[in-house]
Amino acid sequence: MKTLNTIEEVRAWRGAQAEVGFVPTMGALHEGHASLIRRSAADNPATLVSVFVNPTQFGPNEDLAKYPRTLDADLKLCEAAGATAVFTPDKSMMYPPGFRSWVIVDELGDRLCGSSRPGHFKGVTTVVAKLFNIAQATRAYFGQKDAQQALILRRMVSDLNLPLELVVCPTVREADGLALSSRNRYLNEDERKRAVGLHKALAEVERLFKAGTTKTAILHPALVTILDDYVDKLDYAEIVDADSLQPLDEVDRPTLVAIAAFVGSTRLIDNTIIGV
Ligand code: AMP
Repeated sequence: MKTLNTIEEVRAWRGAQAEVGFVPTMGALHEGHASLIRRSAADNPATLVSVFVNPTQFGPNEDLAKYPRTLDADLKLCEAAGATAVFTPDKSMMYPPGFRSWVIVDELGDRLCGSSRPGHFKGVTTVVAKLFNIAQATRAYFGQKDAQQALILRRMVSDLNLPLELVVCPTVREADGLALSSRNRYLNEDERKRAVGLHKALAEVERLFKAGTTKTAILHPALVTILDDYVDKLDYAEIVDADSLQPLDEVDRPTLVAIAAFVGSTRLIDNTIIGV
């Protein structure tokens, strides 16, 4: 496995490959990331992983400074999962002085996580568009864990005619159902136990829906009641059209059930799709 430190090195490496699968990450890698790398390695002769904690997707009071940085372990995980190369740009390479250009996906970026994290998706779409242009990948791999991100990036790829295929992979979970996240390492023992509440709440909505309940006026309170027992503060819990992210009265189409909640001071997200 090669470590590529500059954009020029990525371009030179890319030139020698036929097809490339690309897995963009912010590091602090875990089995969720490994599943994307393995999938890319199965689909493509070469897989590039990027590790970059993108400052423009963090708000002023968020965890940019304390976001976990574990590059040595990340490189080992990438290699074990089948990556061919890892790109580790620094901030000055991605955002040199004078940087002024942004990619914005209207409306979809303002809802759910976008309403509590203003500017977050503008940072995500911009850095991913830049990384796509640098990596020139054939396929790029993202997790369903970040459902809104995947939806917005799909829109961006389609709207801007970006010449690659976007593949969304299932959420990898702990044995008790907690979705793996780099931020789970912020949780203390008590918080870790309570963090499972997000999954429990989603599982209850899935259960009710399977049993025939389609009214969101019934599903939504069930979601919130369980969350209230586990989390310290709810950011949002929404049942929305999985394509437009608009609220629904009835689950009569593919529907995203999405949660963001604080356990202690850690903000966790999770989601499920029902009505497919
Ligand atoms: P991040 O490093 O948090 O920016 O995540 C990089 C990629 O890994 C994104 O496409 C995430 O959706 C994906 N990812 C993060 N956690 C998981 C998980 N538990 N299961 C599957 N994919 C994940």
